[in-house]
Amino acid sequence: MRHYLNEGMLADMPTPAMDLALYQGAIVAWVSSHAASPSPETNVRCRVRTRAYGRCVGDIQAGIAPDDAVEWFCFLCHESGRISGWRQTPWDRSARKR
Ligand SMILES: [Zn+2]
Repeated sequence: MRHYLNEGMLADMPTPAMDLALYQGAIVAWVSSHAASPSPETNVRCRVRTRAYGRCVGDIQAGIAPDDAVEWFCFLCHESGRISGWRQTPWDRSARKR
């Protein structure tokens, strides 16, 4: 995930990549700030668009895998992914507050 960053700021990138970075960032922010009381439900809405139904309205479920990657999954469209290298990014909230 660090490749989105340029000296700690979001790097210049095309809009689709920026959307993806912000989407993954939202998932990471949620997971890292709820690590103390894990719950798979996040407040992040799925970003998948399907030709048949338009934008997916599923809520993303996410958690931290044993190898420390953030894994996410949409129960509605079954889109899923893994986000690694998220610690120490601006979206990592695990070190703050609590
Ligand atoms: Zn979905």
